[in-house]
Amino acid sequence: RAGMVAIVGRPNVGKSTLLNQILGQKISITSKKPQTTRHRITGIYTEGDDQVVFVDTPGLHKEEKRAINRLMNRAASSSMTDIEMVIFLCDSDQWTADDDLVVEKLQRLPKRVRVIAAINKVDQFKDKAQLLPILEKLSARMAFDDVMPISAEKGDNVDALMKIVLDHL
Ligand code: GDP
Ligand code: MG
Repeated sequence: RAGMVAIVGRPNVGKSTLLNQILGQKISITSKKPQTTRHRITGIYTEGDDQVVFVDTPGLHKEEKRAINRLMNRAASSSMTDIEMVIFLCDSDQWTADDDLVVEKLQRLPKRVRVIAAINKVDQFKDKAQLLPILEKLSARMAFDDVMPISAEKGDNVDALMKIVLDHL
């Protein structure tokens, strides 16, 4: 299995932490080059015959918004067949207007692009019931192909998320 996956979300939801967690386990190549090529390729996960290229968006607020726009425009254009999947990352504790802006963009993606929601920072919750408000929010906003609560920092469920990613490729 092989594919290209974009990780999107508003600033501070934990995109970089998630990438480090995924790539920290199985790292092949990482690149911190600015957007000189078609995508900002942040890292390549390889295990056995599986290879997943992850595309991240930079951390600065204004730049990040532009980068998401660029990524979405590329993913939506018919010539862009290489992004197969998007991981939409949100914070389990805080839904903001910026999350809604990102979701609005995701809704415009062509159907062939799978969108998985990852609810991050669940380590800050003691009780699973605390997830209910955000789960309701997500299901009211759009039909995600999968929803997975994770802790990018602790690594909880990150392997389960990777399994979902690979299963969809
Ligand atoms: P990005 O802007 O989306 O790339 O977010 P970062 O990866 O830079 O993370 C933003 C902040 O959230 C940092 O202070 C991280 O340490 C924190 N963070 C990321 N993942 C988790 C997590 O799983 N749990 C908790 N408690 N904090 C996290
Ligand atoms: Mg970042």
